Amino acid sequence: MQKKLQALLLVIAMLLTVCVGYAEGAYKAGTYDVKVDGFGGEMTVSVTFTADKLESVVVGDNSETPGIGTPAIEQLPGAIVDNQSLAVDSLTGATVTSDAIKKAVEEAIAEAGGDVEAWKTAAVDKGPKEAVEETADIIVIGGGGAGLSAAVSAAENGATVILIEKTAALGGNTVRAGGPFNAADPARQANFPAASEAAMATVYALAEEEAKSPEHQAVMDQLKADLEAYEAGEKNYLFDSIALHTLQTYAGGDYLGYFDLIQKMTGEALETTEWMAGNGVVWKDDISTVPGGLWPRTHVPQGSAGGDYIKAGQEKSESLGVKIILNCKGEELIVENDRVVGVKAEMTDGTPVTLNANKAVVIATGGFAANKEMRKQYDPSLNENLGTTNTPAATGDGIFMAQKVGANLVGMEYIQCLPLGDPETGALSGWMGAIGVEYYYQVNKEGLRFMAEDGRRDTMTQALLKQTDSMSYVITDTNSEGADNGLNLWGDDIEDLVAKGRIFRADTIEELAEKVGLDPAVLKATHDQFNAYVAAGEDADFGRSLFGAPIDNAPFYASPRMPTVHHTMGGIEIDLKGHVLDADGNTIPGLYAAGEVTGGIHGANRLGGNALLDIHVFGREAGKNAAAE
Ligand code: ADP
Repeated sequence: MQKKLQALLLVIAMLLTVCVGYAEGAYKAGTYDVKVDGFGGEMTVSVTFTADKLESVVVGDNSETPGIGTPAIEQLPGAIVDNQSLAVDSLTGATVTSDAIKKAVEEAIAEAGGDVEAWKTAAVDKGPKEAVEETADIIVIGGGGAGLSAAVSAAENGATVILIEKTAALGGNTVRAGGPFNAADPARQANFPAASEAAMATVYALAEEEAKSPEHQAVMDQLKADLEAYEAGEKNYLFDSIALHTLQTYAGGDYLGYFDLIQKMTGEALETTEWMAGNGVVWKDDISTVPGGLWPRTHVPQGSAGGDYIKAGQEKSESLGVKIILNCKGEELIVENDRVVGVKAEMTDGTPVTLNANKAVVIATGGFAANKEMRKQYDPSLNENLGTTNTPAATGDGIFMAQKVGANLVGMEYIQCLPLGDPETGALSGWMGAIGVEYYYQVNKEGLRFMAEDGRRDTMTQALLKQTDSMSYVITDTNSEGADNGLNLWGDDIEDLVAKGRIFRADTIEELAEKVGLDPAVLKATHDQFNAYVAAGEDADFGRSLFGAPIDNAPFYASPRMPTVHHTMGGIEIDLKGHVLDADGNTIPGLYAAGEVTGGIHGANRLGGNALLDIHVFGREAGKNAAAE
């Protein structure tokens, strides 16, 4: 009965659609080229009407962020044409791009003589369809970096895989990241200058700490051996080693991360870059230090930051036969005889989906920084006003699903903020200097530095929260554009950022200060002092020790940045194979988890550049072991 009613409603909706969008002789036929403001800059949209209906919508020149805005460009025009309606849903996470496309079509409708108001309310075919049931060896929930790694790894180990993603596009937080990936990498680091004495002093100190465990002692001994070997050589290149990466990660998380998980992550970092290269990621040869990364071992891919990982993961998984279902939200795990055997899910239009897993389910749904209630529950200091760098889809779904089947949660109170969010959107994109902490310094509204920019993320965020309006400006120069094609690291059009006043540019520091509204004399003094510290390799004010070239190559840039919530370090407890554990430390049969949804690796503070590492190492591991079930 209910189905009949739904069918009837659908027919009525379609009739209405035809009535509104399609109307004989209602339009002045032709193609209307409309220019609108997208997220990344101006966007050209060509809208073609016949005399009776909207024929096509084509987005032309644009600077929308690959993987974030571009899915709206791919999907929304078709939906508008098919439904002959502007009431189609915007894409989650791409609302600015979606709204820009709708606005362009709206302008064209008006120009063509159509009824804009009727188009805004015209019915859309949204209703649920027949329930779907599908089966594969492995079901992966979540299509970010961890989920795609798990899918690729399971498929290359012979399993059939279905991956579901609740939004209209793959990518999650991974696609929003600047792409930093830490790995001690002797070949690439051989070209990087030796660290300053001040920086090396921090390394020696890590080898001499009070041991928290025999394993910790063993890695400190390894670091001493690595240092001895380095000292015996020319010392004209950057020192690094897996032991140093391990100890910096452990100490950087206040010794709260699980040492065995850290060791696996750092130990497999380099081979994971090679595995990812095999999947299609092209790495740059340059190394730098991502903010909060503490050491120059950050790798980035050649194209559009985190978007490259998603593109490679998607193409590789599809070539291996992985079935990807977008707009499909995992709701609940199916348990039979104490084993997880599938997932109950739902399409965005309400269609019920049952997914049976012959072998196992991998949860890779990311974190919960976009769930304000939840983050406040675990860290009451995080008020609602703080924006987030995250996808709105980071709502902790996988944590709830896992909890329901007895999974143990660890470190939920450790939530990372970054001192580098866009004041308007909270996003990580839209600024200059992002290729590494070596290439910028940060000032408050008084034009003064207030912290070591190469410090821990928690320390830097606390320092910024104490400044006037929690506001800061990243100051850098052309040396740090990180791009020679007019785009910054995220693919934002630099001219457009300047034109819109999202960043400032000037040929002298004094002029820059004036544009921003800072005291020119104060900023100039700060600037000269900073460059003196670069020359000395030492910062007498805040103890910064990582420097690049002096910031003296005009034009100069200032990018406004505020604290935003970035990463939830707690989550589902896993073992070294990616099995989900219960409160007694037993594995939950048939269930794996990987990525930001898991906890225990990063302790109280995650090093910059360790998240993309974590999700790919453990995504790959979970996929491999799930396939072997
Ligand atoms: P990670 O870095 O761990 O891979 P990401 O944030 O990059 O995390 O990716 C997580 C992905 O999971 C996002 O694309 C998000 O939309 C998706 N997701 C979150 N909850 C669900 C859910 N209930 N069902 C399906 N996909 C989900």
